Amino acid sequence: MLAESSSVELFNKGIYELLSKGKELGIIGACEKIWVTAEDEKVCRDCVLMSGKVATFNERFRDYHGNVIGLFPPLHPHCRCVIFYRMLLPPGLDDLTPEAMSTPNTPPYPLGHVDAGDSELISAVLNHYEGRISPQPIENAIVITADGEVYHATGDLNSVDPILGLGSKLNGATVTHNHPKDSEGDYSFSGDDIDLFKNENLDRLRGIDEYFAYELNRNPNDSDFTTPLTTEEMLEMMEKPFDSVHMAVVIKAQIEGWGYRRWRHE
Ligand SMILES: [Zn+2]
Ligand SMILES: [Zn+2]
Repeated sequence: MLAESSSVELFNKGIYELLSKGKELGIIGACEKIWVTAEDEKVCRDCVLMSGKVATFNERFRDYHGNVIGLFPPLHPHCRCVIFYRMLLPPGLDDLTPEAMSTPNTPPYPLGHVDAGDSELISAVLNHYEGRISPQPIENAIVITADGEVYHATGDLNSVDPILGLGSKLNGATVTHNHPKDSEGDYSFSGDDIDLFKNENLDRLRGIDEYFAYELNRNPNDSDFTTPLTTEEMLEMMEKPFDSVHMAVVIKAQIEGWGYRRWRHE
């Protein structure tokens, strides 16, 4: 039994050290750790309570009392628990820390670099960061420049003006940001958002609130509505609390020749 326990311990330690080395060398990106038990009837109650707990790579786990424990199992002698590592970001990109996302009015600072030509990768990166910033109580923005430089900045409850400090780097950039739950957002882009997209010549602007995600882009065919709204559609949208600003953005995008989409996120 002792031998079993120490081999699981060595296994957990070995994997962690291997991934640490990979991160140092820049071949492994940001990942998170998930505590996994042996999932049989012999698993003890303490380990069952750890099952499915998530931590960032460098973070120590906490037990159910809230006490800080190890970077990885064992929880106790003979513990057979292991860690499942989930890759979050490609190598070369930092993740966002809770402190970074909740500190207001942070000017843009670099998170790293991505291949700007890899649209599938860019989508995965945007989706990851949007999942992180959407529950935040202040606006957070991620900027991916035309060259693939990635920046993070924060604003306050209703705007994220600090990204304007990037100046001409916004030209052709993809920007995403959140509209906090208690903000003035009306389930689509604000007038300031539309000005930002237009005046800074963004390639793509995305926004996310507690229900919807939305996108403005430069391709009029990449739209929910590619033909002018009918009177019936307009009347129907005006009656729905989530749709009145959305309708105005649909019309604005059609006038300007932009693409505009909105969808429910989970
Ligand atoms: Zn265990
Ligand atoms: Zn906005």
